[in-house]
Amino acid sequence: MSKLSFPKSLPDFQRMFPDDGACATYLEGIRWEAGFVCPNCSTAGEPWRFAGRPGVLRCRSCQRDTSLTAGTVMERTHSPLSTWFWGAYLVSSMTPGMSAVQFQRQLGLTRYETAFQILHKLRAGMVRDDQDRIGAKASHVEVDETYIGGATKGEGKGNHHKTLVAGAVEAMQRSKADTEGKAAPRRGGRYAGRLRLSVVPNRTAKSLRGFVEASVAPGAMIVTDDWSAYDKLADRGFQHLAVPERGEGEVAEEYLPLIHLVFSNLKTWLLGCHHGVSPEHLQAYLNEFAFRFNRRFWPFNAFRSLLGIASEKSAPTYAELYSGEWEHPNLANGS
Ligand SMILES: [Zn+2]
Repeated sequence: MSKLSFPKSLPDFQRMFPDDGACATYLEGIRWEAGFVCPNCSTAGEPWRFAGRPGVLRCRSCQRDTSLTAGTVMERTHSPLSTWFWGAYLVSSMTPGMSAVQFQRQLGLTRYETAFQILHKLRAGMVRDDQDRIGAKASHVEVDETYIGGATKGEGKGNHHKTLVAGAVEAMQRSKADTEGKAAPRRGGRYAGRLRLSVVPNRTAKSLRGFVEASVAPGAMIVTDDWSAYDKLADRGFQHLAVPERGEGEVAEEYLPLIHLVFSNLKTWLLGCHHGVSPEHLQAYLNEFAFRFNRRFWPFNAFRSLLGIASEKSAPTYAELYSGEWEHPNLANGS
């Protein structure tokens, strides 16, 4: 069951998970690859099943019920499993921030609050991940910063509301063996590995070095432009190549192509968010972008990660959801 290929379209998805029973079978297959074992009495063997309650298995030996959603984001939910699966599929594979209203319509949910809660819980799964530092296994890490946003109606051009974002992306090298006999890979076999993005207050050494030290593993080789804020990286335990940009595009294209491509795609994606992105909400969008980017080769991992399946991550509690500790922009403005 875990060897399934990720559905490439909504109809594909519907064929794979047509109803709650199919979702339950999938959950069961992930948890017990070799068949059900009762968590209470450790008896292995086919459990009792109930037509009206696909999320519950009852041990034939001790009669105890086991919930398939225990420990997942769906635990104690009143919404059907298929609603959660649809939601996770939409969130893990769709472009710009979907609003709770769109989500409610797509899933045919009666209550807006249900859509709100499901979307909120799924998106919270994008925030907690990705805390470790990148670059240890990369050929090097490209680091740069860019301004996001800024054009606000009626205020003219300039730097109003522009937010500075720092990015670090792993440059991976495909081995000769991987590429032999295939068409010549772009950029000499170089491709992007994992990505970290963060809002930073300014372009000072303190801000940018702080970002690098939080995002990149010590000892990694870092490539930046020759902005002075990056000067002391070698003293901080990194290998560092500062490339003089001199305002020439070709230099950047040669030494920092991956991070520039990331920034370009990020800006295109943010433009697609119909509400615009205010500075205080930008980090949530950056997390969402990086979450999908880092799993683009493994979309099923993204899907499972959001549902809280096959990982130790537990769902955010109600207290966390509503304490204002984390708020998703589209949900925050109630659209
Ligand atoms: Zn049992």
